[in-house]
Amino acid sequence: MNVKRALTIAKRTSLLSPYRHQIGAVVMRKGKVISTGYNKKKSHPIVCAYNPLKTLHAELDAILSCENKELLNGATMFIFRQRRDGAPALAHPCPICMEEIKKHKIRFIFYTIEEFPYWRKENV
Ligand SMILES: [Zn+2]
Repeated sequence: MNVKRALTIAKRTSLLSPYRHQIGAVVMRKGKVISTGYNKKKSHPIVCAYNPLKTLHAELDAILSCENKELLNGATMFIFRQRRDGAPALAHPCPICMEEIKKHKIRFIFYTIEEFPYWRKENV
């Protein structure tokens, strides 16, 4: 798994976000992208249940966009966020997204952090 390459795909995805804080998530399995997501406005039941602003987080968007949810089992998610000056920023999933990541048995998450090497791996 090439972390830099995967985070670059997550970065590209984040740029689609209409928000000032753009976050991108990519789910990979066996070196292939199986779904992508970015933070956007959407009134999905899971979103509305916890977020009155109806902001769908990138991680949840990537999970919901995956047509075959079984593929998420054992997969790896990469989450990218950058500051306005282009430096990587902390992109650890919020508790709601973490719950969904666990529920779908995603095995590892890689997310950007502010210090070198600018990403961190976590076993879910
Ligand atoms: Zn979240």
